[in-house]
Amino acid sequence: MKITDHIKNANGKTLFSFEIVPPQKGVGIADLYKNIDPLMEFKPPFIDVTTSREEYIFLERGNGLMERKITRMRPGTLGICSAIQNKYNVDTVPHVLCGGFTKEETEYLLVDCMYLGINNIVALRGDAMKGEKYFEPSVGGHKYASDLVKQIHDLGIGEYLHGKIESDTDNSFCIGVAGYPEKHIEAPSMNYDLQMLKKKVEAGADYIVTQMFFDNQKFFDFVKQAREIGIDVPIIPGIKPIATKIHLQMLPQVFKIDLPEALINEVLKCKTNNDVREVGIEWAINQSKELLDFGIPVLHFYSMGKSDNILKIGREVF
Ligand code: FAD
Repeated sequence: MKITDHIKNANGKTLFSFEIVPPQKGVGIADLYKNIDPLMEFKPPFIDVTTSREEYIFLERGNGLMERKITRMRPGTLGICSAIQNKYNVDTVPHVLCGGFTKEETEYLLVDCMYLGINNIVALRGDAMKGEKYFEPSVGGHKYASDLVKQIHDLGIGEYLHGKIESDTDNSFCIGVAGYPEKHIEAPSMNYDLQMLKKKVEAGADYIVTQMFFDNQKFFDFVKQAREIGIDVPIIPGIKPIATKIHLQMLPQVFKIDLPEALINEVLKCKTNNDVREVGIEWAINQSKELLDFGIPVLHFYSMGKSDNILKIGREVF
């Protein structure tokens, strides 16, 4: 079922969902299941599965020689989506990237989604390759998520890359896109970024999922500004419980977000990472309760491997 239909059917009740990251290739799926199992208690209508683009790896070839190879270390997004759908009878949402993919490859992936009964997609540009400063689209690929959204939307109405195919079945996808309550790092201003977000909605996006944030006011302001410029699709907040001291540096560096002083101070007082985990849980519970009062359609968690903290938060909030 489409995410937008899940939201409609919930009649104003906030739904619970989460995102998982595929394991590195060579590692089995068992650990992923161990982390998903407990969260099924909250009856998520859908689970997101991220996609990682290709990266350079360096292999030692003896005599001090290194060989540079390009590979995807976490392939298998569609396989994992399909496995989860079968095991848990829940919708899955693969993340589809511009970076590293041609339009043809994207079309084949979307056709596979149709066969697998996957009718929700989060369409993203992806970041620059590791070691490169700026995002470069693949030859024959898309430059912006809005172009990818258009391809997914068009294919849903039978417009394939080579031409039109008439069909009696509904092949349309429900398309999610990323939103940034603290602005995307490359956008010259918040207003510019919001206008680009609007472009994604005009191209066919049905809902928005936000980057993680730790200060709800940033989300409230973002929603207000989005509504003011005519973005009227559901906006789903993404929440990540802070879990180790390293997150104080890592989260701003990777996700280009700020942490509130009060949270930083609480984390700095912690003696162990277990203490930090508890601070993260407490913070996320308070954030979640306030977001539910605000009236959000879905509360979406970034699980990043471990789900024990999300389980504790969910039990307090749902
Ligand atoms: P876009 O919407 O294309 O925006 C990129 C930049 O270009 C922005 O600064 C925007 O303002 C600007 N822009 C957009 N459209 C135009 C236009 N038409 N003309 C000019 N400027 C424009 N990354 C992964 O690799 N894998 C994942 O699975 C993944 N999942 C994510 C899930 C969520 C919810 C979020 C928030 C992010 C996720 N990311 C993921 C990270 C994402 O790929 C990066 O943040 C990336 O840098 C931007 O992607 P985007 O889709 O927002 O890009």
